[in-house]
Amino acid sequence: MPYQFECLTGSCQFMIRSSSADEVERLVRAHARMTHNSRLTVADIKRCTERVEVA
Ligand SMILES: [Zn+2]
Repeated sequence: MPYQFECLTGSCQFMIRSSSADEVERLVRAHARMTHNSRLTVADIKRCTERVEVA
C-alpha cells in the first residue's frame, strides 16, 4: 500500500506517492527546502501523509 503526501502549504499543488515511507519523507523534505525554503518536522510530514489503495 503506497503512501501519498499532499503539500498543504498555501496553494501548493505538490503531491507525491511512493511505496516507501522513507522515500516520501526524503522527497517531501527536498520539496519543502527548495519550494518553500522551510523545513518540515517529521510530525508535519506524517500529518500530511496517508496510505492509499492501489486502484
Ligand atoms: Zn509545497
